[in-house]
Amino acid sequence: MKNTYDFAIVGGGLVGMAIAYGLAKRGQTVAVLDGEDASFRAARGNFGLVWVSGKGRKEPDYGRWSFESSRLWPTFAEELEDASGLKLGYSRPGGLNIALTEDSLAASVENVDYLYRQDARLTYDVLDGGRLRGMVPDIGDDVVGAVYSENDGHVSPLYTLRALFTAFAKAGGDYVPKAAVSTIERRGDGFRLDTALGTFCSAKLVLCAGLGNRDLAPMVSLDAPIVPLRGQILVTERVRPFLHYPTLSVRQTAEGSVLLGESAEDVGLDAGVTADIVAHIARKAIKPFPLLHSVNVVRAWGALRVMTPDSMPIYDESHACPGAFLTTCHSGVTLAAAHCELLVPWLLGGQLPPILDYFHAKRFHV
Ligand SMILES: Cc1cc2nc3c(=O)[nH]c(=O)nc-3n(C[C@H](O)[C@H](O)[C@H](O)COP(=O)(O)OP(=O)(O)OC[C@H]3O[C@@H](n4cnc5c(N)ncnc54)[C@H](O)[C@@H]3O)c2cc1C
Repeated sequence: MKNTYDFAIVGGGLVGMAIAYGLAKRGQTVAVLDGEDASFRAARGNFGLVWVSGKGRKEPDYGRWSFESSRLWPTFAEELEDASGLKLGYSRPGGLNIALTEDSLAASVENVDYLYRQDARLTYDVLDGGRLRGMVPDIGDDVVGAVYSENDGHVSPLYTLRALFTAFAKAGGDYVPKAAVSTIERRGDGFRLDTALGTFCSAKLVLCAGLGNRDLAPMVSLDAPIVPLRGQILVTERVRPFLHYPTLSVRQTAEGSVLLGESAEDVGLDAGVTADIVAHIARKAIKPFPLLHSVNVVRAWGALRVMTPDSMPIYDESHACPGAFLTTCHSGVTLAAAHCELLVPWLLGGQLPPILDYFHAKRFHV
């Protein structure tokens, strides 16, 4: 391995690896400098939705950006499967936002309709109980209906990450684990990064270190005002196929296990699991899907989301240190395809896609 590259990517989660792969397959020399096994790693603990519907209420371009990514996902998944020989468990059957009361159904409809009026590609359909039961016969009697969106899908985030590692290596990239970056200095036309494994130099660098970006960004005059937000997830034993469509809090994987989730707790840097939240998640899942009552949970875990003050991404280049970029987002699974295909040309010297004009960190300082 050498130590001078066109690009250093700091952080090997889904954000860093999607960008690193996109750069390497376009002929750049790329090193991914990653942290330790014990680092906080959202990419290894998430729910696996490739989700569009309902996003963009505060800024419609966030919904459009998520849509662009979901549109690219089928080709992206196929490319990663070809490169890695892995099955990612990706599908885009459309997603359901299930409602247990008429009020919550009306609120969901109001939201998706607002977004549809901003961009007619953000389509949706309102399903009453009867139509929903036609699509999901096992749905519980308490469910009054759902909002369906054809743009939503899901994938195994772990196979996606593993496939990205393989595809990146095949494209000539160097992945360097246990190389947490401690300092970054501007040197001549490039950057010098000190890590636990020595010094690396690069012409450009992209900060993709998740929660680690907060400390790294100021070293190149960037700003990453991010905080952790814990989510806990349960996974069950495998059961017969009963849920073809992912929902925001329950999805059945390609292998047959069922993921249950959607908690959000402000507990600082604590990625633990608690009995009360686990019980709450399980109870909440049984209401719409009573068959889960007799299914065993085999594992539960906590993971920390990487949240900006408005939950939307930051894409910035440093004015003081041109060539130093920051990329951080909460939906790194959903946005992986867009990061690989639409963001990388900007890092290579092209224009920032106009759809991303809003997503600089300055918006938090007006
Ligand atoms: C519970 C939960 C559910 C989620 N569900 C979804 C979902 O359904 N759909 C979706 O799109 N997104 C979801 N997400 C978000 C998604 O997981 C993240 O957006 C995604 O993992 C991208 O994270 P990342 O690469 O920015 O950070 P991480 O995965 O946290 O990776 C950051 C990497 O940077 C490394 N690092 C940190 N500091 C340094 C340093 N100083 N030097 C070098 N390396 C460093 C770490 O070791 C780590 O490997 C969920 C997240 C959580 C927590």
